[in-house]
Amino acid sequence: MELDSTRPLISPQTNQRSRSNSKVLPARQERSRSHIKITYLLIPLSFFLLSLHSYFFWISTDPAGKNISHRSSNNHSSFHSYSGISSNSDSNNINDGNVDQELVKQIMKDVDQSLTFEKALHKKYDVCVVGAGLSGSVIAERIANGLNKKVLIIDKRDHIGGNCHDYTDEETGIRVNMYGAHLFHTNSERVWDYVQKFSKWTPYEHKVLGYVNGSNVPIPVNIDTVNTLFHTNIQSSEEMDRWLEKEQVKYDHEPVNSEEMAMSRVGKRLYELIFKGYTYKQWARYPSELGPEVTARIPVRNDWDDRYFPKDKYQALPSDGYTRLFENLILNNSNIDVFTGIDYFKVRDKISCGQV
Ligand SMILES: Cc1cc2nc3c(=O)[nH]c(=O)nc-3n(C[C@H](O)[C@H](O)[C@H](O)COP(=O)(O)OP(=O)(O)OC[C@H]3O[C@@H](n4cnc5c(N)ncnc54)[C@H](O)[C@@H]3O)c2cc1C
Repeated sequence: MELDSTRPLISPQTNQRSRSNSKVLPARQERSRSHIKITYLLIPLSFFLLSLHSYFFWISTDPAGKNISHRSSNNHSSFHSYSGISSNSDSNNINDGNVDQELVKQIMKDVDQSLTFEKALHKKYDVCVVGAGLSGSVIAERIANGLNKKVLIIDKRDHIGGNCHDYTDEETGIRVNMYGAHLFHTNSERVWDYVQKFSKWTPYEHKVLGYVNGSNVPIPVNIDTVNTLFHTNIQSSEEMDRWLEKEQVKYDHEPVNSEEMAMSRVGKRLYELIFKGYTYKQWARYPSELGPEVTARIPVRNDWDDRYFPKDKYQALPSDGYTRLFENLILNNSNIDVFTGIDYFKVRDKISCGQV
């Protein structure tokens, strides 16, 4: 099963052939040829626009007459079918340089995918999974492969992978995590063995430097952080513990907010330099506005370990990216159909699911 979105609707070979056969024609002949081409294009295009309209009429009206259109007015979302259900787009190759090809492709893709989804509505699924993120994809894979059941996955975003989704930036060739960097780390042998089935993994230990007072210092705080910021010469964990002890603010009550919690752990100076700004950057709230638990969980090290996850045995990144990992999890599986760009709540009355 292939990702439909990667399947070219206009075959490169057809394009190539037409280019090599083209001749330089006089202007009038060229115009009349363009006219014929546009006519040829408009007939199938009208057909597809009509189909699109009928489809949206159908999908946007439930039996009670309530509008359940899945499209927002700015029309950003689009269907993507990752199911094994075949569609007819291969027969719809259009090649014309005079019309906005991107627009034509987009319209044809929408129609194609919409009709594909309609076919899915007539299938019976043992389980429907809402969300093609980590949870939904793993659950779907286990049900499909472990229990040999038919699974439908629906995601309202126009891609799989949920928050872990990544893509390669065309300009730079750099892979980007769409919603922020994701680092895989676990201590569980079972989890580690499981993920081996769906990706190669490149060892990666996350380390963070914070730019503070003109220096790059390890975050979370460790001995190097303190030595750099306060020009100390701490040489052991015991010395670090004593330094922290002297810095810590003593309260006659349990810390009531994150400011007090941080000051009780690292003192005023480290709090002002690191904890205060870091917390604000993360949560757009100052520690005094947050409960004590937020800064209670920020680690402080009494050694030189500068890894972000020092306790996790397995730390790595999927060598071909997270999106490929998800493709391997849920695509190419005859028991799983995947549709993106669809809000479950807008189609739930129309799909047949043994369980959700
Ligand atoms: C910036 C950032 C960095 C992170 N870094 C890490 C990290 O380094 N390591 C780590 O382990 N975790 C990290 N996480 C947490 C990680 O992203 C989540 O634990 C994980 O993605 C949760 O997966 P999920 O499938 O439960 O949710 P999601 O990934 O959120 O997927 C849920 C999916 O459900 C879909 N959905 C919701 N409602 C509907 C509906 N009505 N119809 C159809 N679809 C619907 C959503 O569109 C979404 O795609 C990070 C999170 C963020 C935001």
